[in-house]
This record gives sequence, C-alpha cells and structure tokens, in this order.
Amino acid sequence: MIIKLFNSLTRRKEIFKPIKDKIVSLYTCGPTVYNYPHLGNLRTYIFEDILKRVLIANGYKVKHVMNITDVGHLTSDADTGQDKIEEAAKREKKTAWEIANFYTKEFKRNLKALNILFPNRWVKATKTIKDQIEFIKKLEKKGFTYLIEDGVYFDTSKLPTYGKLSTLKKEEILPGARIDVKGKKNPTDFALWKFSPKGIKRQMEWNSPWGVGFPGWHTECVVMSIKNLGIPFDIHCGGVDHLSIHHPNEIAQAEAVYQKPLANFWLHGEFLNFGQEKMAKSTGRFIILKDLIEKGYDPLAFRYLCLTTHYRSKLNFTWSSLKASQNALKKIYQKISGFKKGKVGCADYEEKFLAAVNDDLNLPKALAITWNLIDSNLPDQVKLVSLFKFDQILGLSFEKIWHQSQRIPYKIKRLVEQREKLRQEKKWSEADEIREEIKKLGYQIEDTKEGPIIKKIF
Ligand code: AMP
Ligand code: ZN
Repeated sequence: MIIKLFNSLTRRKEIFKPIKDKIVSLYTCGPTVYNYPHLGNLRTYIFEDILKRVLIANGYKVKHVMNITDVGHLTSDADTGQDKIEEAAKREKKTAWEIANFYTKEFKRNLKALNILFPNRWVKATKTIKDQIEFIKKLEKKGFTYLIEDGVYFDTSKLPTYGKLSTLKKEEILPGARIDVKGKKNPTDFALWKFSPKGIKRQMEWNSPWGVGFPGWHTECVVMSIKNLGIPFDIHCGGVDHLSIHHPNEIAQAEAVYQKPLANFWLHGEFLNFGQEKMAKSTGRFIILKDLIEKGYDPLAFRYLCLTTHYRSKLNFTWSSLKASQNALKKIYQKISGFKKGKVGCADYEEKFLAAVNDDLNLPKALAITWNLIDSNLPDQVKLVSLFKFDQILGLSFEKIWHQSQRIPYKIKRLVEQREKLRQEKKWSEADEIREEIKKLGYQIEDTKEGPIIKKIF
C-alpha cells in the first residue's frame, strides 16, 4: 500500500519511500526534562506514535531515536534566559541531575500510560557532549562560526539556504527578530556552545576548546540524530513551533558540515490549544496527565481525543470534549466485551482503515471506520478480529480490555450463583439486592433463556 505524508520541506503530500528498502529511520525531538510534560507536548508524542505504528502496520521496521534534552534548552529561544533544567533545580532545591532523572522517569511513565511505543534508542544530550564539541569544531573549520563573549555562534548569513524549512522569510524567522545577545551578527544566528555565566558555577558544564560551558539545544538534536541514524535519514518530527527556529537551525548545521539534507521528510504536529492560545508552560495555562487522572479520566481518553482531530489541525482542549472521548471509548469497551473472538476479520473494512491511515495519517476517518464496523451487521467474531488489528494503530487497549472483560472474578461468579438460587426459590427482593451488590462491584447481569450472562461495566 502507498503511504502519503505531508512533508513540511516541500509543503505538500508526498509518497513516502524510505532510503533503505524495509527500514525507516525516524528521529523525534524529545522532551526537555525540567517539568512534567503537558497535554500539548503529549499530543505531539501521540501523533508521532501513530506515524510509527502506521509504518509498522505497512511492514516497515522502524528505527526510532528520541533524545532527552537534559541540558542547553533556554527559557527563551533567542539564546537568552536561563537553562530550564538549572532553573528547575533552584525552584525544587534539587541538583540539575536529579531534576533531569526525575522528569525523564515521569515522561516515560506518561508515554506508557498513553500506550506510546518507546523508541529503540533514547539519547541524552549530556551523554553526547564530546560529539557536540567535535561537530562544532567541524563547523568552525568550515568557517560557519564566530566567537563572542557569550559563546560560539552559527553565522546564518554564510549559508544561502538557511531557513529552507520555514514558511517565513529569513528576517521573520525569529519572533521580533531580536538581537538579545551582545555581539550577535544576525537575528537568526544561534548559539552552538554557550559559556557558563561569569562568576557563576553551573551544575552542568563542560570544558571545550572555546571555554567552559554547554551545547546549544539545536546542536544537540542534529548531533544526536546523525550519530544514531546517519545522514540523511528518513523522517524527522516535532511540533509546529519547531518549524521556525529549532528545525531550520538543525538543517543549517547539517548542510554546513555535510552539504546534505538532514532528513528527507519533516513532519510537524499542530498545537493543542487551551482557551485561545497554545497550551504552554510559559503562560501557566497547561494541564498535565496527573491532573486528568485525578479528575477520574483514563489517560487513553486523551489519546482518543487526539485521534478525533487530524494532526495538522489545531485541537482545542476542553474538559467536555475529554468527557465525550471517555464516553466514546467506554462505549467501545462495553461493546467489545460482549463479543466472541473469531479467526478472520473483514477484509473490506481493514482495507478502508489502512487506506485512511496511509493518507497522511487520517485518524479521524479511521475512527469513523472503526465505529461503522462496530455498528455494522457483521458477526461480532469478525468485528473483533478487525478491531484488534485497527488497535495496533489506534493504541486504545482493545485487546487488553477484552481479555480483562472475559475474566470474571471468582467473587462475582459466587454472587451470581447465590442470586440464581434465590431466584429459583422465588426470593425476588433478596435476589435483587445481590444484583445491586454485583453492580456496585462493576458488573451487570443479563438474564437470558440460557442463564445469566455477566458483563463488566465500563
Ligand atoms: P519541549 O519539551 O518543550 O521541548 O516540547 C516537546 C514537544 O512538544 C515539542 O515537539 C514541541 O513542539 C511540542 N509542543 C509544545 N507545546 C505544544 C502544544 N501546545 N501542542 C502540541 N505540541 C506542543
Ligand atoms: Zn530537536
């Protein structure tokens, strides 16, 4: 089957073909581990997970690398401000290393809760400092760098193709085109290596040929991706905010050193909005997964919500849309728990589903097809086989839930037997009391000619 993906480089849908026959190399910009990821961040990781699952469903082996930005991401993208990790260390009275470790673990826990497949390789920025330095040396040798009081900078005026990925003109790339750093030649220039501030001992700093300091965030990603996937690799992903600064800067460095494109396909997920703006830590208007769980929501209800909107469209988060998603998901769980499992699915539905996801990850359409199948007249056994296949992409735990629903706890079975006995003795009100007790424990009974059927309530 043909897969079409919208490539931000060419700004159109293209037929996807990997460099190697059956292997796809994929790099997704990972988290800056200074705080819990918010639902906006998680929307981007869900979109990337769907992409990976679609590739796998089409028979590709995906070599997926994700970085952990544990140093070098500043509070402002214009190379000013504090290092986010060092700032969090002060706030939480922990070391920068403790902060990074803690939030890396939390991040991974969030991915698990959302059924997001782990990458084949996690790469930490702090574990690749030597590689960063070697890479900056290469840029220096080729004449793309200059040294100022604040650090080593990339001179974007030396690269005519700079900003290839951005839809903006070069002058417009940095918001407000500020030159906040003394000595910076062009607004679009960016730090490759930042010096530790004078008189201040940072917790995370390293020696380099230019002075003690730390690598810039844009250098980290280009170095970690090339080191693990080669150049060019197949697909590079991130959120749309990376279209204007982070990704053009990665591309610029790669082209300056290797005269090659960094990746053939660039995919960007749109924002999750909250109110009128994008969800962001900087504005304080954000929600984390823990908030959602504390309010009684299943994390997968959020995953379901993300699937209802195409990844290239903005999605506005509201509690009522989350509630609607949770209800829809529970409805599916309820329906499938009553299905028996067969051997073959419906080829027609399966083809339609694959065609939808292969068309630039049209998950809203794929979800509609899922519902059409559930509501169709096909035998339940057939439906269930196809639904399990769909769920390899949807990632909504259909199979796990179905297995759980088939295992009725011993206690419930005993209560049902007691109720049956009472009914035979025509002790109706006592039997009803037991029915209520069973309901409180999360199960319902349907009385049929063949005897009672017990179903888990979702
Ligand atoms: P960060 O941890 O800040 O580096 O961000 C992790 C990922 O989340 C990046 O790919 C960002 O582009 C993405 N991101 C940040 N804010 C949002 C948002 N409101 N909606 C969707 N993605 C976002
Ligand atoms: Zn990155």
